[in-house]
Parts: sequence; structure tokens; C-alpha cells
Amino acid sequence: MEAAATSKVDVLIIGAGPAGLMLSLWMAKLGVKTRIVDKRTGKIVSGQADGFQCRTLEIFDSFGIGHKVWHEANHMHEVSFWNPDEDGKIRRHHRGPNTQPNLSRFTEAVLHQGRVESILIDTIRASASPKHPLVEIERSVMPTSLHIDESCVDDEDAYPVEVTLRHLTEEEATPTQRLSNLQDGLYRSNLAEDDTERLLANTAGVGREEKVQAKYVVGCDGAHSWVRKTLGEEYQMKGESTDAIWGVLDIIPITDFPDIRSRCMIHSAEFGAMMIIPRENKLVRVYTQLKQVSTGTGRVDRSQITPDVILETARKILSPYTLDYHYIDWWTAYQIGQRVGDRFSKHNRVFLTGDAVHTHSPKAGQGMNVSMGDTYNLGWKLGLVCKKLLQPHVLDTYELERRQIARQLIAFDQKFSKLFSGRPAKDASDEAGSSMSEFQQAFREAQLFITGVGIHYQPSILTSDSDLKGGLQGTETPSQSQVTSLAESAAHCQPGRRFASQIVLSQADARPWELQLHLPSNGRFRVVVFGGDISQATQLATVNKLGGWLQANWMTDEDPSIVDVLLVHSGPRDKIELLQDLHEVFHPFDKKLGWDYGKVFADDHGKAHKHYGVDPDRGAVVAVRPDGYIGLVTGLEAEDGWTRLQAWFGGLLRPSPSSS
Ligand SMILES: Cc1cc2nc3c(=O)[nH]c(=O)nc-3n(C[C@H](O)[C@H](O)[C@H](O)COP(=O)(O)OP(=O)(O)OC[C@H]3O[C@@H](n4cnc5c(N)ncnc54)[C@H](O)[C@@H]3O)c2cc1C
Repeated sequence: MEAAATSKVDVLIIGAGPAGLMLSLWMAKLGVKTRIVDKRTGKIVSGQADGFQCRTLEIFDSFGIGHKVWHEANHMHEVSFWNPDEDGKIRRHHRGPNTQPNLSRFTEAVLHQGRVESILIDTIRASASPKHPLVEIERSVMPTSLHIDESCVDDEDAYPVEVTLRHLTEEEATPTQRLSNLQDGLYRSNLAEDDTERLLANTAGVGREEKVQAKYVVGCDGAHSWVRKTLGEEYQMKGESTDAIWGVLDIIPITDFPDIRSRCMIHSAEFGAMMIIPRENKLVRVYTQLKQVSTGTGRVDRSQITPDVILETARKILSPYTLDYHYIDWWTAYQIGQRVGDRFSKHNRVFLTGDAVHTHSPKAGQGMNVSMGDTYNLGWKLGLVCKKLLQPHVLDTYELERRQIARQLIAFDQKFSKLFSGRPAKDASDEAGSSMSEFQQAFREAQLFITGVGIHYQPSILTSDSDLKGGLQGTETPSQSQVTSLAESAAHCQPGRRFASQIVLSQADARPWELQLHLPSNGRFRVVVFGGDISQATQLATVNKLGGWLQANWMTDEDPSIVDVLLVHSGPRDKIELLQDLHEVFHPFDKKLGWDYGKVFADDHGKAHKHYGVDPDRGAVVAVRPDGYIGLVTGLEAEDGWTRLQAWFGGLLRPSPSSS
């Protein structure tokens, strides 16, 4: 074989599933030199993940692609719980909202993973420009070795990670399907043996190889992660598998079951549990517990599992209703297990994300969402560090923040799966059975977590500490943040939570806007100034003074500046003149494009101020991270507001301009 060629890249991503693609999207948007490789010839065509949670839709919307998913997906508004009656027949016991109202602009939506990956890939390609290099997925490529030069991990200009990549033939990179005429997901299931070692052995000395020196390598290579295994024993995931096996069918059903277009959780008396997920294009996903498939020998006999076996089980659970189909889109089976790693990064140079560092059962619709959540969290940090706009120690917060979420996910899934897979209790004295009312209650209580809206990152250098606590708390000892929020300034804006949306009116043209739409994912920090009633001269003067200070201190020479400023005021809109009354930072001027009319919003009845917990007589400042999470809450005045902002930005950004 020829000597391997060597090249350099800022970020090398291994794996082009949801986690790898979300990371690539950030890199493409921020213009970071990136390569992404995947061992498979093509992406998923159908099946696999489908549940899209509210927070993930908000994130997609912040990249300008939320509407694509929203329009194509099925929206799941309702959930029904069916349990056995005294006579053993299933009956609808409860029907309610699938997503708790008013948590988000969105409700849970369902669209298959292949389509989600296509939308991401198209957006990554479309982000290329003269300033932003094209990030193209390189398929049929896998790593064979990874070495970290520990002598230079602290030198930010160094490329300390060397990876050897091997290029496979199409045949080697194409997984075998069990049934030749039908897509199955068994090759990706946790019931399947990992083929990485076999592929590496079969292609040794044959495939073309190259060496890549990278500043950062990110393992997005799924549950069997080669990157994780290569990092060593202390990176292995810990946890357990249960003996519960579930089958999945994506079909267009022909049935007299009345709730087939609602999400349903069905428990039968004898034949196990089933979940129905109504999908796009008349499809329905059916999850059934396969009680008859043996796990006695420790490994499941996969030949026992076929679409017919899954359908037969579904029919028994659904009886006396009937179920059949003519069209099947995809099928798979999996074993329930929950595992999570202790460490998500090595020297902040190699990172693990998504299924590579946490796995759990699919029914709660979390894996794709949390995996993309990992790289949504990591991406902007990595991108801004590569561009030398952010201090490298901010990368510490990736493991701190996302391990907390992964542990919460595992705890939630253990509880949810146990209740779902358990036999329904006959009555209160049946301790071996699962209480169906407890199951419904667990589902309702977990809404904040399931939707992703309840994420609450713990205090750190990025998330200031606050004395107002609540909601989902971290499971770890918080690291000391350097700055404390003046929490009462905006009492409902808790640092560490996502900045929620409210409708406000454009000052320039009265158009109503979801405020979140003015915080797009483009790598910029946002200072959202709640000005209160700026028709009052003293309040206007305070806001303008703050504007001047922000302009002088944090509007950098970068184009666009890494800090963006928005103003929401509660004064009467027609008493304010945008260009005359307000400091230029609120309507910046561009020689070619003129004034920016999109930064000032009126909150005529003070509804948004109230929602965010801001006293209109005093106002507040909320500093939002590039991923839409609140970093700092403070006041408008120099004494409390500016000093805290100065300290907070000073600990994150660089070079740190001096305060005037
Ligand atoms: C039946 C089913 C239903 C599900 N439903 C949902 C749902 O409704 N909602 C939800 O959020 N999640 C769901 N999930 C989970 C979801 O599919 C996963 O959690 C998600 O795909 C994880 O994304 P990832 O990018 O981390 O890993 P993966 O999607 O596994 O992607 C990993 C990628 O890395 C590549 N790769 C692997 N090894 C290598 C290597 N050595 N070199 C190069 N490339 C490599 C793979 O080819 C793959 O493209 C479901 C899963 C299943 C099985």
C-alpha cells in the first residue's frame, strides 16, 4: 500500500447520524474547516427515530429549517391510555394532550430520521459561501487509529489528534438487509453484533488510507462507538440491559381500532404492551413487546423476529380490534437497556456525543433529540474556539452540561420503561404488576423533560448562579460560576434555562413576532434589554446609556459582532421614534443596507415583561448564549447591570475589551 497522505483540519467528525449532522451544521454556519466521515454508503432511507420534541423544533427553527419539519411531520396532539378491564378486554381509560399546552410554540411532531437527516444535509450544503468552506459528508470512510499528542493539547494552534482514515468500497460499506425486498433496521439495532472489527479486519491492507491531523475530533459514531472504545476503559458506558425485547413496524394500517391516529399507550392483560405513533403520509408506527422471544441464552435469537411475529403480537394486544396492512415501510427490534458514560471528553480535544455516550430505549422519543442536543451544545463552543472568539476553557462546560442531561435521561427512561414493560396490576394489592395510574402520572410529570423544554443547565462559567431555583435541577455538584445573576430583575428568566418565546411587535412596522425568531443560531451572544416604559425620559436615558456602553465595549470589529443587542420596551409604541429616540446600537447602520429595523420591539400591554418577570418600571437585561440558553440576568443600571455583564463576557470572550 502507498504511504498514507497527511492533511490538516480544524474539526474531524466521525459519524453522520443526527449528532454528526447537527455538529456539521454549526461548523458550516460558523465557517470552520471541517471533515465528516461515515462508514456507511448512504444515510438512513426510512424508519429509525421519528419523534421530534418541542425544543428540537425550536432549535431547527433557529437555523431557519423548523418549518420544513413542521410542515412535513405529523403533529401529535393527543395521547390515549388503553388498559384491560375486569373482563380482560382493552378499553380507553384516559385521553389527554400529548404535549402540555403552552410549554413551547410547538407540539411533538413525527417525521422519520432519514428525512430529518436529508433536511440537515441540504442545509449544511446551502451554508457554503466564499467565507464558509463546504462541509461535505464523506461516505464509506472509517477511522482505523486515533492518537493524541498530549504534549501539545494546551497549545490552541496545535493539531494534537492524528487519525488514520480508511476508504471502503461500496460493497464493504453497505449493510446486509435480512429480507431482500424490505428495509430493516436490525443492522443498527442493539440486537445486532457490531461489524466494525470485522470491517477493519476484512479491509486491512486493501482500502486506501490517509492521515488527518485535527485540532478536535468528535465521536458521533453511535452506540457501538469506535471512538469511545479507542479512548480506553474509563470511557466505556455503564448500565444494564433488561430482558425486554420490543419489535417495531412502520405500516399503513387497516384497522377498526378507533384511536389509530392518536398516540396510544396500550397495556393488555396477557400479551404485553404496545405503543402507537401516528406518522406522516398515513404511516403508523407500532411498538410491541415481544414476550415470546427468548433472551435465556443471554443473546437474542434474531431469526425468531420477523415482521409477521411483530404483527401477530400486535393483533393479540389489540384484540378484539383487528389490524392488518398491505404496505410496510420499515421494521426492527431492540432490547431495552440504559447506559451512560462517565466521561464525554478527553483533554477537550476528543469528544463523545449522542448514542456514542448514552443509550436507552427508543419509545420515549429521546435519542435523536438528545443526541442533536449534545452537538447543538458543543457545536457553537467548538466553532467559536476555533475562530478564536471564545476562551478554550468554555469547552469544559460541554461535559458538565450534557452529562447532567444524559443522566436525567437514563433515570427517566429506567422509570418509564419499567412501568411500560410491566404487566398491568390487577388491583392495588397486586404489587408485582405496574400501576397504570402511576404510569399515566409519570408520563404527565415527565413532560418538561420529554419535550426538552425543561433543560436547566447548572451554574458554570457560562451560566451564572442565581438564588431563584426550580424545575429540573442538575444531579452534580455545580462548579462555581464566576458571576451571579441579579435574579429578581427578570424573575421568570432562570439562568441555565432556554430563553422562551413571547409575541412582541416590531417597533418599525407593527408586525407581531415570536421573539425567539430574533435569536437565530448564528454563533452570536444576545443581550436582550427589557427597557420598561421608555416613553418616560429617565427610563429612556438609562436604556440609551446602557446602549452606549454596550456599543463601546462589546460590539467587536468582527462582521457581524459576536454580541448582538435587542430591545423590548413596554412604552406606547407610537410615542417612540426608533431612529431619533434610541441609541444607534438599537438600529445599527450599514453603508449598503441602511438602518437595521429589526432590533426594537414594543410590548404594548406589558405582557412579555410580565411573562419574563420584569418590572416595567425598572427593566432588566437578559444575556443569552448562542444556543438560546440564558447565561445572565441583571439590571439596566451601571452599578449592577454593566459590571455583571462585563465580568460575564470577560470570562468567556476574547480578546476582552476593557471597560470604559
Ligand atoms: C426503532 C427506533 C426508534 C427510535 N425512535 C426515536 C424517536 O422517536 N426519537 C428519538 O429522539 N430517538 C429515537 N430513536 C433513537 C435514535 O435513532 C438514536 O438515538 C439516534 O439516531 C442517535 O444519533 P447519533 O447520531 O448519536 O447516532 P446514530 O444515529 O447511530 O449515527 C451514528 C453514525 O455513525 C456511523 N458510524 C458508526 N460507526 C462508525 C465508524 N466506526 N466510522 C465511521 N462512521 C461510523 C453510522 O453509520 C451512523 O451513520 C429510535 C431508535 C430506534 C432504533
